[in-house]
Amino acid sequence: MDPVPVTEVASIIGGTVHFPAEEREVGSVAIHSDRLQADSLFFALGGATDGHRFVGRALANGAIAAVVAADRLAELPRDAGPLIAVADPLAALQAMAAWWRAQLTATTFVAVIGSNGKTVTKDALVGLLTGHRTTYGSPGSYNSQLGVALSVLQCPADVPIAVIEAAATEPGEMARLARIVAPDAVVFTNLGSRSVQSFGSREAHARELLIMAAGLPADGWLIMGEPDPAVHLQARDITKARVLPVGDPALPRLTRLRHVEHASLVRAALPDGAAEDLLVATPSPEVLTDLELAMGAATLLGMGSAELLAAVAEYTPPSTRMQMWRRPDGATVVGELANTDPLALSSALRTARSLMGAHGRTLMIIGDPLAGLDAERAEAMARCLRAEHVQVVCGLTAEAHGLIEAALRGAGVEVHRFPDEDRMRAFVATELRPEDVALVHVPRDTMVTDDWMHLVETAAATRLYVDLAAVKSNVAAFRKLVGPHTKLMGVVKADAYGTNPVIVAHTLREAGVDWLGVATTEEGVALRRAGVQMPILVFLAVPGDVERLVRHRLTPSLYSVEMYDAACRAAAVSGRRLDVHVEVDSGMHRSGLYPEAAIDLLAKLRDSEHLRLAGLMSHLGCPDDPAEDDLTREQLKRFGTVCAAAADMGFEDVVRHTAATAATIRFPEARYDMVRIGLGLYGIQPSTATSSLITLTPGVGLVSRIVEIHDMAPGERVGYGGLFRAQAPGTRIALIAAGYYDAVPRAFRKVGFVLVNGRRCDIAGTISMDSMAIDITGHPDAQVGSDVLIFGQYAGFSSPVEQAAAAMDTVSHELLSQVGPRVQRIFTQH
Ligand SMILES: *Cc1c(COP(=O)(O)O)cnc(C)c1O
Repeated sequence: MDPVPVTEVASIIGGTVHFPAEEREVGSVAIHSDRLQADSLFFALGGATDGHRFVGRALANGAIAAVVAADRLAELPRDAGPLIAVADPLAALQAMAAWWRAQLTATTFVAVIGSNGKTVTKDALVGLLTGHRTTYGSPGSYNSQLGVALSVLQCPADVPIAVIEAAATEPGEMARLARIVAPDAVVFTNLGSRSVQSFGSREAHARELLIMAAGLPADGWLIMGEPDPAVHLQARDITKARVLPVGDPALPRLTRLRHVEHASLVRAALPDGAAEDLLVATPSPEVLTDLELAMGAATLLGMGSAELLAAVAEYTPPSTRMQMWRRPDGATVVGELANTDPLALSSALRTARSLMGAHGRTLMIIGDPLAGLDAERAEAMARCLRAEHVQVVCGLTAEAHGLIEAALRGAGVEVHRFPDEDRMRAFVATELRPEDVALVHVPRDTMVTDDWMHLVETAAATRLYVDLAAVKSNVAAFRKLVGPHTKLMGVVKADAYGTNPVIVAHTLREAGVDWLGVATTEEGVALRRAGVQMPILVFLAVPGDVERLVRHRLTPSLYSVEMYDAACRAAAVSGRRLDVHVEVDSGMHRSGLYPEAAIDLLAKLRDSEHLRLAGLMSHLGCPDDPAEDDLTREQLKRFGTVCAAAADMGFEDVVRHTAATAATIRFPEARYDMVRIGLGLYGIQPSTATSSLITLTPGVGLVSRIVEIHDMAPGERVGYGGLFRAQAPGTRIALIAAGYYDAVPRAFRKVGFVLVNGRRCDIAGTISMDSMAIDITGHPDAQVGSDVLIFGQYAGFSSPVEQAAAAMDTVSHELLSQVGPRVQRIFTQH
């Protein structure tokens, strides 16, 4: 939102100001006392944690004022700072969002409502439009009373299109959300089949959802994914806008021809007669339905056929709700968050079945005790399992599972029940055959990976574990170090240091990181295609990329005059203003413009119609090395002169940044307005000079397995070059299924050891492409199948990445980025 004086905010939200302070301008809102920007207004919200307890902390962290409930005013310290008292802080936040929405008269707001598929539809629409016009999408599945308000407040002033997801779980909620979003157009995905609970009937549920469309302008539209004609009639009653059910000749059609591997071959037919057969990267018919709705909305928003077809071919669906792993033996494990809604369940089952081999079976594994499931719903679930031809159902001894078993009796479905998950898992692990598909249904708040990944782990020899909870706690540690006003950029180049950029990006967003940094345009585009909406800086885009940067709202760093010229040309052609950061070479001599050349460029930018200077950056050569601190200070001094010149030229709101992990920790003066953290996200220290200054949580571990054991006679030699020689009788050598193609470089030999059950075993001989040998003499617990920790953390054992890198004369960055494609990445969230 644009800045507004605090007293004006008070009148917008109908509050009274207590203990007034100087008149400052509010430019953002915060609901976490530790995640403030310099211009944040803090809202003390209720809920699981009472925001009023954090008012003092928010003000101490620099919040302009705190919005509190009038009836809690007496409890709050008088001297903490300015307070605005309102009847209900959440309603006040919503009023502020409604006010900001009303300012955005040039933005077309599209609301996405319905029971299922909202987030997929919204992300697909944003993804399709992103190459066409700048489009803002509400983050993740922010769709609640709070989420919608925050989504609208975060919408930038100059975007042509905003897509906002909204959900109602109780009667009356949609009217509040409709006042905030005031949509120009609505996409209604479907009504689902669980209306009765809170709304009484399907009709009442539809009526509640359709309130979002009640105020649509006459030239607006409502796309109806729900096929029920009765709901279409209800819709036509409630709005004067055009109601277009799927199948209307004004909308594109998407027909699935067949599935191909993990994708679908579809025929796309557009209203203007254009048609094409395309491969879309999802096996799920429901995702295709959502995509079809998004295509309809994109068409009505003016996207041309050729452009739309190209965007559909490039569409990547989100993988957050469903995760799929193919085991080396050919069996597939699909993890899905438990949803007992029959529509959602059959959708998941159908997707799972499409991954099944010709001779495979579908196994349904119910890991959620499904507490509270009644006989009627158990019967509905059982019907669905029968209809989707599930052959084996594994459940717990929970009561609800008994009801499902009873309902399946006589249907020819094999049902097994277990007293606990461990036993169920052991059964499934032996039962699962190549070509089978297991659909694992787990409760909403446990990540599928946590327990059930075991089914895949047991099959994948070499695994890189990434602990997302550690990543979040490291973000919090950096946030604490730099304070609430310095922005955090998460650097996710090189596949997020060998992990997975999309999964890490989503985690970083949840942890409150503001920006992402990548090295290449491809990396940025891949994140956009996967639905990542955060601002993204591309360090090393090349001049030929600029048009794609513009289309995908990626911010380039201008490190040369050629990049500047290319950016000017592309921005002029697109007619859109492009934000850029200018990179200054302050002495590292890697990339960037020398200070004088950078200042010349600033002069050009000041007069540029097409480019806006949004940031100034530099990179430091040796901030991790105390012996070179003079050089670091000299670099910072040179960068400072460019910043001063920019200020003299009247540039405002320029984000200045120079620090990666090491400089962030060692040089507070290098932090400026933003820090760029890569290695530190994984809890790895850049050097011994940083480790005493910040405590990080190590979050990665490379683990493989013993596949074979040999007894060696004295004098026998091992491996290429025969470098290891058995000395004494009783020498035992184990072969590990990881070599230099997988992440263990030949130089790893210098590290000397790995850990088996926490005990050191020496490396025996040279490391091969696919395997390496270790000496397990005197370690009776090292057996075929034992896990071997190569570096990092695993199962409570640790072999620091930093030490391995140091022994190999390299940096941890190199070790991580060499984790090869054969290694299974496993994300945990403990
Ligand atoms: C890689 C990189 C970073 C991150 O460095 P870490 O040491 O991993 O924190 C920051 N800025 C730029 C320009 C980079 O290339």
